[in-house]
Amino acid sequence: MPCKCSVPACRGNYDESTKVAVFSFPNDERLREKWLHAIPRTDFKITKNSKVCEKHFKDSEVLRNSTFYNEKTGETISAPMKRPKLKENVVPSTFPGCPSYMSSSSAIRESPSNKRQRLEQEQIDLAVEESMNMN
Ligand SMILES: [Zn+2]
Repeated sequence: MPCKCSVPACRGNYDESTKVAVFSFPNDERLREKWLHAIPRTDFKITKNSKVCEKHFKDSEVLRNSTFYNEKTGETISAPMKRPKLKENVVPSTFPGCPSYMSSSSAIRESPSNKRQRLEQEQIDLAVEESMNMN
């Protein structure tokens, strides 16, 4: 069973249509702290089932291909990995649906219907946040 993403407002891996790669929290304590600070979620306790999905990392921070150096031919072969890997020391930085953490990732191309869906989701998240702030 795929692990769900622990980031609020993220539906990563909640069902088949939102399938994404997920990453465990780093073992390095200091790096793990940074992840915790970066993720806009209060009362967050990490368990071994806590995962952060690839949506929260920049494209350049995720390794999707592994490269092999073939000594005989002197060629470097690159092949897609079954499971993407994170580069070392990266911290999640992109939180769609969490307005205060909106990143400037407008470079990512979206289809109009995706964009509409996302905007609707942002409105919902905003409303939820507002209602929480009233307490
Ligand atoms: Zn996620």
